[in-house]
Amino acid sequence: AEDAPVYRRVLVKVSGESLMGSQEYGTDPERIRAIARQLASVHRLGVEVGVVVGGGNIFRGLAAQASGMDRATGDYMGMLATVLNALALQDALEKQEVATRVQSAIAISEVAEPYIRRRAMRHLEKGRIVIFAAGTGNPFFTTDTAAALRAIEMHAEVILMAKNGVEGVYSADPAVDPDATFIPEITHMEAIERRLRVMDSTALTLCMENRLPIVVFNMGDERNIDRIVCGERVGTLVRT
Ligand code: UDP
Repeated sequence: AEDAPVYRRVLVKVSGESLMGSQEYGTDPERIRAIARQLASVHRLGVEVGVVVGGGNIFRGLAAQASGMDRATGDYMGMLATVLNALALQDALEKQEVATRVQSAIAISEVAEPYIRRRAMRHLEKGRIVIFAAGTGNPFFTTDTAAALRAIEMHAEVILMAKNGVEGVYSADPAVDPDATFIPEITHMEAIERRLRVMDSTALTLCMENRLPIVVFNMGDERNIDRIVCGERVGTLVRT
């Protein structure tokens, strides 16, 4: 059967950690290639794709604060880290023959366009994958919040939260609690109240208020993202 996409425009959140593979730090080239293959495949189905990349594989403001650094400074360093990841992902996507643009929320004009909403939408309409770098551009936020914000701004129909090693959302951390059970579907409100690890609560609240559904899924299985985009129920669906 011919697979037809059920979404016109999606926003994929790729965490920094998912770029690390089995490494302790930085990026694993094979992992980045695998992610690029999957994004290119969705793109080939005719779906418009925006991507928000994290930076936790390189730097986190909160961790820097714990070792004595000013939080805001650490957060700016974290945002710059996402730019490194964005460039690595752009390179891998272009090797898959996909036209891409990186737009950064922090001006860094020699390497990336500034974030300009209408221009980003134009790129998407023209079939370019837009990688949103530098989070929201503000300290004290996360790239999960950036994903929620950009998805809403772009009128994406869903956020696809790519995870590695887990199939979606569980009642507890499956790495710690052997009684953790998989949750196939849940409302934003319940996920917030039960403090389930979908995304941080600022991001989740933003999605709830704008009725934006989220699919949390395992990107370790390369078939998953195509399946989701074609309407199959994979991972956990968070909806109103
Ligand atoms: N960050 C920030 N504002 C944002 C997005 C990110 O200050 O809007 C900083 C923050 O320090 C964060 C780091 O950038 O720890 C890396 O982003 P994040 O932790 O969200 O990456 P991920 O967990 O997805 O790898």
